[in-house]
This record gives sequence, C-alpha cells and structure tokens, in this order.
Amino acid sequence: MIYRTDYHVHTSFSDGKADPAGYILAAREAGLMELGFSDHVNLRYNNLHWTMDTAVIHDYITKMTMLGKEYKHPVLRKGLEVDYFNDMEKEIYDFISPLRLDYVLGSVHYLNGESVDSNPEFYSGKDFDKIFSDYFDLVCEAVSSGLFDLISHCDLVRIYGKNFSADPSYLYEHLAMTFARHDIAFEVNTNGMNRPLGDFYPDVRFLHIFRKWNVPVCVNSDAHLPARVGQHFERAYRLLKDAGYNEMCTFSRRERFMIPFEI
Ligand SMILES: [Zn+2]
Ligand SMILES: [Zn+2]
Repeated sequence: MIYRTDYHVHTSFSDGKADPAGYILAAREAGLMELGFSDHVNLRYNNLHWTMDTAVIHDYITKMTMLGKEYKHPVLRKGLEVDYFNDMEKEIYDFISPLRLDYVLGSVHYLNGESVDSNPEFYSGKDFDKIFSDYFDLVCEAVSSGLFDLISHCDLVRIYGKNFSADPSYLYEHLAMTFARHDIAFEVNTNGMNRPLGDFYPDVRFLHIFRKWNVPVCVNSDAHLPARVGQHFERAYRLLKDAGYNEMCTFSRRERFMIPFEI
C-alpha cells in the first residue's frame, strides 16, 4: 500500500473554496494517511484576496489543532505556504519561527514585484528565457535561505505552457544541487494539470536529476477544492518510481521523516 500524503491544500482561511473539514472527508476518500493544510501567507502583500490575514494566524493554528484532535484519520498536519522575498528573510523567519507548525512550504510567486501566476499578461513582450532563469535563481535563494522545509512548484513559470528555448536541464541540475546542498525537499505538484500547462511541476522530464542529487520529495495536489485532494497522484508516484525514487518525506513539528513508497 502506498503511504499517501498531501501537504499542499488551501482552505477558506486563504483562497481555498471549502472549510478544512471538507478537505478531511475528501482526503479519506482519496485514501490519504496524512493531510497537511498550507494556507497562503504573504508578508509583503498581506491580506490579498488569496492570502490569509496574518492577524488570524493563531485562529488558524488553533482550528487545525482542534480538528487534529477530532479527526484521527487521516493524520492532520499544520503547515503554511509562505511567499519568499529575498529582502524579507528576517521578517519571514521572525513570523514563522514561533509558530507550532509541522512544516513550512516556501513559494516564489513574484518576480521583480510582479506575480508570475495570476495573469499571462505578465509574460507578454518579455524575454521568457530570462524570466525562466531569473525564476530559478530566486527559487535557489529560497532554498538556500533555510527558512523552509519544502519548496512549492519549483518551476511555476511554466504555468502558461511556455518553454525555455534551449535545453533547460542545466538549470534543473543547478536547482537540484542547491536543494541537496541545503537538504530541503521539493514537491511534485499535480495542480499544473489544472492550469494551461496541463502537466506537473517540476517538468517531469527532469525528475531523474532530483533523484540523482537525492533530493527528498513529496507528492502534493495544491488543491483549492476538496475534489482535487490527491488528484493525479497515481501518475506522480509512477513517474517518481520510474525516476528511481523509493521513499517520500513526511513532516511533523518541522522535522522530516522518510517513509518507503509502499508500506
Ligand atoms: Zn503556490
Ligand atoms: Zn498553493
């Protein structure tokens, strides 16, 4: 039996479309052993329509703790998806470190002050290769910051289906090496299937590079609807196995544990 976890789920505390309880029921249906909530926190643009107001962070943690006591299956984990800004590392650290979380997902959604995933217009008239490599550089900074346990959708700039003009494998090689050096996990994020990209993040052609560098991995849905919890996980597991992976990571109180794919 595959030990299924999903650590990337958004509830109505941020831009998810349902209360946490709705996701718990969906997670049972999807056969998950662990479900992690990871609502958005953005310390630069606090309380956007898609982020949680940081003023309610303690309500969020209290709510998730109560649910964890009420529902024993699946095991619930408390997380956040926190936007990374390279000039705000201290603020991010000061915000995260006192919180009793199981893990923190770090995300790059902004490049030079603009969102890369809210409007395809961001890309028009720009040099996509430069955006692509600048994005990878910023993800490497997020990895190196030591702020996060896990990095979300590490090549999110693929969201609208644009391609790097040359073979980008050297960028994935450098990225995976940076993950390995800092001992940070990455996710296979299946939500790219619901975006114009129509595929996973990161580009599945390069999973073997992450494996070569022995970068720990999770499979996550980035669900904003209960029906998407655990979506497309069979394919993700198969691809990871084909790449040579035989274990996945789990998180508890910001400690990482490795668990075999099959238990
Ligand atoms: Zn995200
Ligand atoms: Zn997300």
